[in-house]
Order: sequence, then C-alpha cells, then structure tokens
Amino acid sequence: MDQKSIPQKILEHVQKHAIKGNVSNVIDTIDNFCYKFEREAINVGDEKGKYLDEIVKSCSPKTALEIGAYAGYSALRISRALPADGKLYSIEYNEHHAEVTRKMIQYAGMDNKVTVLCGSSPDVIKSLTVSGFDFVFLDHTKELYKPDLLLLEECNLIHSGSVIAADNIVFPGCPEYLEYVRNSPKYECTTYMSKLEYSDREDGIEKAVYKKQT
Ligand code: MG
Repeated sequence: MDQKSIPQKILEHVQKHAIKGNVSNVIDTIDNFCYKFEREAINVGDEKGKYLDEIVKSCSPKTALEIGAYAGYSALRISRALPADGKLYSIEYNEHHAEVTRKMIQYAGMDNKVTVLCGSSPDVIKSLTVSGFDFVFLDHTKELYKPDLLLLEECNLIHSGSVIAADNIVFPGCPEYLEYVRNSPKYECTTYMSKLEYSDREDGIEKAVYKKQT
C-alpha cells in the first residue's frame, strides 16, 4: 500500500516535472497533477486561486500571513502576488506538511520571500515578533478562523486596512467566522463565489477589510 501523504506525492511530482525556480510553472504543475491524480488534495486550487491572487495584488502587502500551509501551494500563489519587497509568514501545525512546504518553496525559488513556522496557530501568533500584517489568509482548521482572527486583533497584528481572506466559506464552511466578520462593524466584507479545488462543488473566499475602531 502506498503510505505517502498527498503533499509528499505532490512535492515529488514537482521535483520530477516542474521547472526549478519557476514559481508559475510549479503552480501549474501542481494543478495539473491534482486534476489528474489527486482530486482530494486541499490546495486552494486554480479557480479560487485566481481570486486569492486578485485580493493579494489589490492590497500590495509588505507583510503577509498565511495559516494552514498544507503542501505550500497557496504560499506560492501569495508570494508570487506580493510586491518585490513583500514577505510571507506561513504557519503550519503538521510538521510533515511544514517540511513539504519548505521544500516546495525552495524548489520554486521563493524561499527569500517565505518563512514557514511550524506549531499551533495560537502559539505561533503569540510568539510573532513582526509589527503586523497587511494581508492574512485563513485556510486551516475551520473552527479556529474566528478565535485566531480575534487573537490577531488582540495582539495588534492587524491594522486599519489589513485584508483578511478566508478559504472554504461554503465547503467545509466556517459559519462562526462568517457570522462574526459579516456582522462586525470592524469589517467590510466581499464574497468571491467559485468552485472547490479540483471539483465542480461550490465554494468561495471571503474578503474582510479591517477597520479598527478608534
Ligand atoms: Mg482550503
């Protein structure tokens, strides 16, 4: 029986077939591989990925945070969309996935822009020494979206104008998070409806712009 994880299989395919140092080719290679062989992979994928790119480009973040790295796919998309001096921190709870992500980012030549931090999201958030984030992508345990956003607020790690993008708002869904950002006067929300990765199933990304109350 094949014991390799999906992220490990994706990484090995990339190392064999993608052009080293070419981030766009690595992204396309991952999508093609997953459409053909690994439809269960939980990369944000090419369909929602287009909206993710658009959201990142529209806010030109100098400092970005991602929670939930998996195989490094969204880290590649976000880092490609960052301005030249932009930096991405990617938090991943699973040590094996964090290692796959580090190797993926290195292969794509994006290691100067991305730092992978392994640990539980609340612990890593509390230990961060950066001054704050202009952009945050939530793509980890759905029940943690809301508490982790509240923690980012509490730790002053987001500021007026910070953009929060949340994946999987339909499937598997994150109702508590959506209820919070959509009803809070501190956030201005936009919904981007699309398709679940490598599937015809409906899913989307929620963009929430933080407006700190003074
Ligand atoms: Mg996702």
